[in-house]
Parts: sequence; C-alpha cells; structure tokens
Amino acid sequence: MEHSAPIVVIGAGIVGASCALHLQRTGCPVILIERNTPGAGTTYGNACTIARFGCIPINQPQLLRHLPRLLLGRRQPLSVSWSYLPTMIPWLWQFLRHCRPHHSRAISQALASLLRHAEDEALELFRAARAEHLLARQGFLSVYSTALSYQNDQTNRQLRQQLLGNDLVELEQGEIDELEPALAGRFPHGYVYSQGFHLMDPQQMTQKMVEQFCRDGGTLICDDLHRIEQGSKDQLKVSGEQASYTASQVVIAAGAWSGHFLGDTLESLPLDTERGYHVLFPDDGQMINHVIGLPDAGFFLVPMAHGLRAAGTVELAGLNAPSNPERIHYIEGQARLALPTLGRSSDTWLGFRPTLPDSLPVIGRSRHLRNVIFAFGHHHLGLTLGGITGRLVSEIATGAPPSVDLTPFDSARFR
Ligand SMILES: Cc1cc2nc3c(=O)[nH]c(=O)nc-3n(C[C@H](O)[C@H](O)[C@H](O)COP(=O)(O)OP(=O)(O)OC[C@H]3O[C@@H](n4cnc5c(N)ncnc54)[C@H](O)[C@@H]3O)c2cc1C
Repeated sequence: MEHSAPIVVIGAGIVGASCALHLQRTGCPVILIERNTPGAGTTYGNACTIARFGCIPINQPQLLRHLPRLLLGRRQPLSVSWSYLPTMIPWLWQFLRHCRPHHSRAISQALASLLRHAEDEALELFRAARAEHLLARQGFLSVYSTALSYQNDQTNRQLRQQLLGNDLVELEQGEIDELEPALAGRFPHGYVYSQGFHLMDPQQMTQKMVEQFCRDGGTLICDDLHRIEQGSKDQLKVSGEQASYTASQVVIAAGAWSGHFLGDTLESLPLDTERGYHVLFPDDGQMINHVIGLPDAGFFLVPMAHGLRAAGTVELAGLNAPSNPERIHYIEGQARLALPTLGRSSDTWLGFRPTLPDSLPVIGRSRHLRNVIFAFGHHHLGLTLGGITGRLVSEIATGAPPSVDLTPFDSARFR
C-alpha cells in the first residue's frame, strides 16, 4: 500500500507509545517524536497502578466544603502556590464549577466508559511488547485512618461498584493487618480489589512498547517540536529543533506540555497541571504486598522493582515552579506514619499530570486543523487509559467507528 506521508505522534509517554503501536497496526507509516528518553515524562514517576476503579474525579461536591481547609493547611494532600493562583484562576473557576453534583456524576460516567476497557487494552499492549514480566498482580488495597473518612467515602465506593462492577471487598482492621502486617493496627477500615494489577516500572514498560514499535517498522526520532501548521495540499508541517516533518496526520500526546501546540494554529484549551510527587524508599520494596492507597493522605504506597515508592498528592503551581520540599516532607512523614519501620529515603521526583478542568482527557480531532488528533489530559489516569486511548486514536485516524462514545472527550466542550 502506498502512503503519501506518515502519521507523526508527538510525545513518547505511555499515551504516545500506545497511540503509535495502535496506529502502526492500521498499516500507515508512523513516526514517534520525543525530545527526551521514552517514558521519562510524567509516566516515569507515577504510582504504577492500572486503576480500573478510578472513576471518581477530584471534582467532588464535598471538595467545595473542604476547600478553605485544603487551601490554607500545609500538611494536606492538596496545595496551591499563591504566586501561581492568579494565572490559574480561569482554570480553577471551571474546575470548581465541575464539582457540582450533576457535573461530577457525568465525569464519573464518562471516565467509566473508558475505564471499562482499560485493563484489557493495557494488557494487550503490554503483552505485545513482550513485557509481562513487568506486571505485578497482587491487587490493590485502600485503607482509611478513621471510621469517619471511611463512611464519607461510602458513596464513592458504591458508585465505583455501580458504574464499573469492580469487585471491591470491604475489610475490617484484623483483615487488613492479615493482608498487610506492616500496617498493623493503624487502619480500622479498608477495601481490597484483588484483580488489580500494577507495573514494576512504568518507564521500562513504555520503553519496551517503543522498542516493539521500532521492531515492527516504526521510526523513533529525538527532537524538540515547537509548531504544527498546515503544509501543502492536505498535509501538515511539524517543525522542531532538528528538522521539519511532513505528516498526513499529527497526534498530540505531549502530556502536560501539549498546551505548547495550542492557541496558535490550533484552538486554545484550558490545559494545566496537577503536580504530584514521589519519594523512594530503596530498601523496602518487600515491606508490603499490594499497592496501598491512603485516600486520607492522598497518595499510594507501591512495591516496585527498585524499592517502595510513595507517590501522589496534588499541587497547583504550574509547569515552571521548582520542586517544593514541603510536599516531599509531607509524603515522607505520612508514609512513615503508615509504615513506621520504613528505612532511608533516596530519590524524590516531581511530575506533571496533564489536567483539564473537567477531569476528562481530550481525545478527538482538532476543530481548527482536522488532521490533528488530540490525545492528552489524562490527569490521574494516564497509565490506566493509555491503551484505550491508543485504540480510539487509531479509530479516529482511519475513520473507523469508535469503540467508545467520544462526545465527552471532544475539544468542542470548551468552546
Ligand atoms: C504522582 C503521580 C502518580 C500517578 N499515579 C498514576 C497511577 O497510579 N495510575 C495512572 O493511571 N496514572 C497515574 N498518574 C498519571 C499518569 O502518570 C499520567 O496521566 C501519564 O503519565 C500521562 O502520560 P502522557 O503520555 O500523556 O504524558 P508524559 O508521560 O508526560 O509524556 C509526554 C511526553 O511528551 C514529550 N514532549 C513534550 N513536549 C514535547 C515536544 N515539544 N517535543 C517532543 N516531545 C515532547 C515529553 O518529553 C514526554 O516524554 C500519576 C501521576 C502522578 C504525577
């Protein structure tokens, strides 16, 4: 089959790698362009969890009630940089509007429509990349530090079960301690999702996927891209530091940096970032058996190949502010409260979740340049939703009927 120009995918995080693998299967030549090492962006340092249960957005009605405490307290899962606040007000305003009950419910439903496919789609790509050895299938445990926080989260547990049929088994303290002796005595309530799985190393998984893409004839180029514009005939011109590229279609999968390509030849979209952190305890990878969610503290404890990673929290401070040591102390302190025998910490990391104010990704064609496809904004769920996003992008690119109704993910919702 002869093709005029390749499809260019911008960004080799989990989302771009998944898109590249799927697009390649359509028979089109595909070029994946990344300015760094594949998987070194936000994909590198996350909490590693394929969170099929993740249909509850941060946009929650009760957030409005707790907002003053969250904003003013320092030892909290959510923090805001006061110097960035004025820049962020339009985003924040839209974000808060989407905390209203009917919005929040609609977000959950839209996320659930993707999450229903998440495990199968992710697994299929991980297997295709011959990287099943990076999967850990111990399941996911969530524990609450008080009876009140457990009670307050009950509606969300019910919604998860209702929308996704997740098999969440509720646990009392004795049962939690049996599953995770290292937590002993500290968490009176919790639930386990036994079918859950996580990755031992998300960056390595992404690299394996990109290697597979290259083995199957795809091209990986290292370049820092800065502009997409209409080229001659129906083609697009993508310009970078090293070269310009002609493309039949372009997929923007540049995570939190996707906004760089917007507002010029493409429509403006309110993409910002929810920053998150991790702290690694290199000697404690064997201390726990499951990924453990600490909803009250706002992060996960993850047993990994190279230690125990405590990863999560949200900081609203934009893409350019340096790492905030207070956030790292918060995570380390809370992790030590949960697991008092934790040893030394080593690496710390700051990452940038790409987030639109309605906590839904943008997956679909640009309104301005129809052969540009958006695939970004996966906030807390990019690792989980990479696989299904790749499939949807390939369906969009070829005009095949989409596996999921794409209306909630259309960029037109921000007009
Ligand atoms: C603390 C934390 C915990 C998390 N835990 C989980 C979890 O357990 N489960 C889950 O599903 N999700 C989780 N997430 C979210 C998840 O990590 C992200 O949604 C996901 O990594 C986004 O993937 P991406 O491919 O869109 O972006 P990225 O991984 O950031 O990839 C984008 C790539 O584009 C490249 N790029 C950007 N601009 C350009 C340019 N101009 N030219 C060329 N290349 C460019 C970047 O270098 C980067 O490699 C977590 C996030 C954080 C911060």
